[in-house]
Amino acid sequence: MEQYVRQNFEKAMQLPMPTKTFAKLKAADSFIVLTVRPGIINKHLTSTQLNVLAKLADEGAVKYSAGHSFIVSVHEEMLDEVIQMLTDVELYVVPPTPSAIMKCCDFCDGDELDALPIAKELLREIEQMPLKKRVRIGFNACTLACYNAVQDDLALIYHKGKFDIYGGAIPMGRRASSGELLAKNIPEQYIIACVKKLLVHYNTSDIEKFFLFIKKEKVSIQQQLKGDWS
Ligand code: SF4
Repeated sequence: MEQYVRQNFEKAMQLPMPTKTFAKLKAADSFIVLTVRPGIINKHLTSTQLNVLAKLADEGAVKYSAGHSFIVSVHEEMLDEVIQMLTDVELYVVPPTPSAIMKCCDFCDGDELDALPIAKELLREIEQMPLKKRVRIGFNACTLACYNAVQDDLALIYHKGKFDIYGGAIPMGRRASSGELLAKNIPEQYIIACVKKLLVHYNTSDIEKFFLFIKKEKVSIQQQLKGDWS
């Protein structure tokens, strides 16, 4: 195997750069990007899904992102048709509008399903909720939090029927930092109301950046979250 690993590394070290990128396609024609995921929870791809992505790579471009998504460049005229193709093979298109977007872990590929019922309820109530800016809500289904929810705008970390909430991460740049603990052990029956209230509070505030909103309103948010269920 060693020889093949070496060959593989040498090939990778040719460092090929893409010839078709969104920037190049957009400069030449009316291309837009879609953020696409294998599922809201599932992270595995089927051959059928890969075939659709391969076709889209031929017609536009496909790359993967730091946020567990494919960035698919499609011609604007093909948008509806492409979304239909993706829907037909159960690929999820993250709405391009400013809204709440949940970034779920994979529930250990379906082996850790204790949090699935409440995750489904949260998705129905929160996912795609219109907001003034996109807010990424990391949902990790156990305290290992291996999908790094604390690096998202808001983090919901599940443990035995309760949630810890973190918020205000700065995910990139020189000031990058994790979110701060806002509330601990919120019983799951209160979590939807707590998250909704927090998002409405953000949406009606005059602060645009979510991490700044958390920073400036932290004390009142903590009091509000505590008052919502205790
Ligand atoms: S956060 Fe926990 S439940 Fe989710 S994938 Fe990681 S280890 Fe599994």
